[in-house]
Amino acid sequence: MPRVLLLHTGGTLGMAGGRPSALRPAAFFQTLRRRAPELFQLADIELELFSNLDSSEMQPELWSRMAAHLHRRLPEFDGAVVTHGTDTLAYTASALSFMLRNPPCPVVLTGSQRPLGEIRSDARLNLIDAVLSALQGPREVTICFDSHLYRGNRTRKVKVAEYDAFESPNFPVLGTLGVDATFEAGLKTRGAFRLHEALDPRVFFLKVYPGLDPALPLQLLPHVKGLVLEAYGAGNVPIAPELGRSLQPLFIQARERGIPVLVVSQAYRNGVDLTLYESGAMALAQGAVGGADMTPSAALVKLMQGLAEHPRGGEPLARFLRTPVAGELSVGRPTVPPPAPKRRRPTRVGRVG
Ligand code: ASP
Repeated sequence: MPRVLLLHTGGTLGMAGGRPSALRPAAFFQTLRRRAPELFQLADIELELFSNLDSSEMQPELWSRMAAHLHRRLPEFDGAVVTHGTDTLAYTASALSFMLRNPPCPVVLTGSQRPLGEIRSDARLNLIDAVLSALQGPREVTICFDSHLYRGNRTRKVKVAEYDAFESPNFPVLGTLGVDATFEAGLKTRGAFRLHEALDPRVFFLKVYPGLDPALPLQLLPHVKGLVLEAYGAGNVPIAPELGRSLQPLFIQARERGIPVLVVSQAYRNGVDLTLYESGAMALAQGAVGGADMTPSAALVKLMQGLAEHPRGGEPLARFLRTPVAGELSVGRPTVPPPAPKRRRPTRVGRVG
């Protein structure tokens, strides 16, 4: 039998309780053996408890510990499944993808919208699909959710109360688990399996919005080592001095202080192109880096890693941010999946005109 490591970190799938009381972490492995015994027919599964947390408690230090643990254990297995809450799943998947370079087997993260112990839970199928993906899917860090396998660092949580909670807006799916399960080849780069667990979490994430007083982020600069700026559209920010809220001084002062600025987009699809508009050109001239089609969560974690690996900043850090580490951004034109087909309106019976 192939061997799979199942590392539990927490999340709704292992919780119990629920209305009228709050959902709380519970004894997941007991429930797993009772509610999904067929998992153990697919593989020889070793259950291991990493933590039992709501994923809103996840922190960069835990990513580093998790990656170091997986780096030690993965060579003994044919695949790994990491069970995790959905709230920060995309962040953890991004972190593991940057920390575990060239994994020797698939690393599949999964979770659920309803606890495994509940009758209408989505956890059972997500777990079965995740184990299958860990055995047959690509050798990279992925998220398996609602019958789809996504590149982990390309995903976003898009729904709170529906089962198809994740999407990969700028990259095609890596697997479809319908009646048949089909998988793509995934990342091509191969080399030695390396651990890059160091992160510098002193990064601030700033969303640009109409009315943002530039004095606020300017006051933050002395306290941060890096800035991810979620700008409008292609990477635009206000720069008209006469309107009183230009962000140009923020770019200038960040540069003077040696604080890297990584720009991502508030738009869900496509990405940043700082050459397209005047404000982007200003940002580029001040040394900002365009994050292309990276998700905001991947950009945040990548900047944390970049700061740890290139503490002197400058061009080596900028090059690291611009170059894909684990397929997290497209170079040149984005690999955009086709838009979802439009839903046909149901025909209304008995209506005229
Ligand atoms: N709050 C939960 C968590 O992220 C949500 C979930 O798992 O769906 O742990």
